[in-house]
Amino acid sequence: MIKGCAVVTGASRGIGAATALELSKMGYEVIINYNNSKEKALAVLDKIKQNGSNGYIFKCDVSNRKEVDETIDFALQKYGRIAVLVNNAGIAQQKLFTDITADDWSRMVNVNLGGVFNFCQSALPSMIHFKSGRIINISSIWGSEGASCEVHYSAVKAGIIGLTKALSKEVAPSGITVNCIAPGCIMTDMLTHDFDENTINELKEETPLGRLGTAEDVAKAAAFFAGDSANFITGQVLGVDGGFR
Ligand code: NAP
Repeated sequence: MIKGCAVVTGASRGIGAATALELSKMGYEVIINYNNSKEKALAVLDKIKQNGSNGYIFKCDVSNRKEVDETIDFALQKYGRIAVLVNNAGIAQQKLFTDITADDWSRMVNVNLGGVFNFCQSALPSMIHFKSGRIINISSIWGSEGASCEVHYSAVKAGIIGLTKALSKEVAPSGITVNCIAPGCIMTDMLTHDFDENTINELKEETPLGRLGTAEDVAKAAAFFAGDSANFITGQVLGVDGGFR
């Protein structure tokens, strides 16, 4: 039985793709948001169809409010309401604080934090109307711990935690939950693009559970927040980090 529509941002690859698949296994049809990776988004949709579910791919830069509104309008036109919104799309950048340019800073803020703001604000009127909805934001352990050479990334990920906690209080009376996941070191393109093999091995050794996380590890936490087991849980930050923190 179809449970409703889940919108997952940055669902063409990594954690977002795994989350889209996990939600489809729960019975949600998924709007797979992508920005550049259309072929990969189509491959995610194919897998969802193989699981016996369905969905659509939809291109949108999460930092562009007009495109975000078009995505939400598309979801509402197809499904009438949005049951789950996963704000996952994100970028990372390794730089000394003193080398971060104004453009680097703006892009980091506009994509990683602005994207969450845009999607929440665009989706909420309908969720409030129906008095139900689950919002799941993907932060990072660096949002609470801070990472050297990732000050702008850490700052916006901390912003997502603040946004989650504040918004959860504001929309709770409308029956909507807002929770946050703070992944540790997860083996995706983001990690392999930013770090060499030695650093990745060091991160593995520093993780008490002795391995890097998988996109599926995070996706299962998102599925938990989307499911009935989390009916009375809101405003929380769940670390999925193998004990790293
Ligand atoms: P990833 O493999 O690099 O995938 C990033 C995804 O975000 C892609 O689907 C990409 O879409 C999308 N994206 C990037 N910029 C976008 C934009 N402007 N508009 C729409 N989509 C955009 O990264 P990941 O590791 O899965 O990360 C997913 C989330 O988890 C991010 O928020 C990241 O900060 C967070 N996180 C990751 C780790 C980790 O260790 N991997 C740890 C903590 C937190 P296209 O390819 O289609 O452009």
